[in-house]
Amino acid sequence: MDNRKRQQIQALHYRTGEPILIDIQRGVLAAITSVQLDEEAKRALPIVAPGLVDLQINGFAGIDFNDIPFTEASISKVIELLWREGVTSFCPTIITNSAEAIEQAVATIDRVCQGDPLAAQCIVGIHLEGPFISPEDGAKGAHDKAYIRPPDWELFCRWQAASGQRIRILTLSPEWPCSAEFISRCTASGVMVSIGHTAATTEQIQLAVESGARMSTHLGNGTHLTLPRHPNYMWEQLAQDQLASCLIADGFHLPDQVLKVVMKVKGPKAILVSDAVAICGLPAGTYTTHVGGEVVLTPEGRLHLAQNEQLLAGSAQLQRWGIEHLTSRGLATLADAWEMASTRPAACMDFPIKEGVEAHAPADLVLFRREAHRIIVEMTYKAGECVYQRD
Ligand SMILES: [Zn+2]
Repeated sequence: MDNRKRQQIQALHYRTGEPILIDIQRGVLAAITSVQLDEEAKRALPIVAPGLVDLQINGFAGIDFNDIPFTEASISKVIELLWREGVTSFCPTIITNSAEAIEQAVATIDRVCQGDPLAAQCIVGIHLEGPFISPEDGAKGAHDKAYIRPPDWELFCRWQAASGQRIRILTLSPEWPCSAEFISRCTASGVMVSIGHTAATTEQIQLAVESGARMSTHLGNGTHLTLPRHPNYMWEQLAQDQLASCLIADGFHLPDQVLKVVMKVKGPKAILVSDAVAICGLPAGTYTTHVGGEVVLTPEGRLHLAQNEQLLAGSAQLQRWGIEHLTSRGLATLADAWEMASTRPAACMDFPIKEGVEAHAPADLVLFRREAHRIIVEMTYKAGECVYQRD
């Protein structure tokens, strides 16, 4: 594992479709030059794009970051499995739980990062989703009401210390009276405050944005089944230009027209997240989970409660599926959809990988082929190291 050595990759640039030669040195893209090739030679090349950046992953392949305690080895396993899917940066997401359980979870993630520099580069931050969210049914989604509470700065600092200062995103609802001051303190400390699982009024959302909130967590999900026509918190978050919108584009969580409208309104601030749960990456079937009880993953990739198939039990698809969904429905070009899942979330979080496939950017790359709208990952590079190669 020597990422100082020089490597060269020839592939088609994901945006232009033109062949390029990428020179990787010391973990960064040292130089990118264009190459002249005939059509046949071009067709033989894979496409190269920035590594995927997923700001919300609850678990994968049977490993659940919210089934506490989990082991350090299980996190390392997820990192490796995500490379196969083109994900080179992600935020393990810890949801509403007891103060002790949250502390234990973030401390476990910190230990992995401390012990493995490559893991620390893949885990770009912890996303704490809750417990300072709305207790209302609908808004709270699957979060356990028993642990939902108003924002508490001392408590947050305790978790932040246990995490080794790795909590980078906090999803909260600004409906709590003390929210504005809390959001200001989080923002000043470098934590991205994201609005989600909320029943906030438009005024409370406006105040949250004035206080520093800059993102909406899975906009359109974790919401009430019915809303007053207007004003309401959906319109307000759409209208707030400073708020990026995270979207679950698995084809089940949001109808295409919602995806289309949010993407039009938000432009480069529309972001794809997976919000994948532990069942993601497992074969179709019936499973028992600690949050939702018995759940069913259908052959079509939809995850619902066994008791009521109308109710989704989380997402069972990663960003790659979301990209495929957007392109197959004609909602985005491949390049735009890919950026929604890579450079755009990185830009919102100011991660260095926001530069994408440009000289001097980190060498986080995915090489892939397309079969119709399907994306077949061939190789993944993290910080200049080839971490996955398809058989
Ligand atoms: Zn959620």
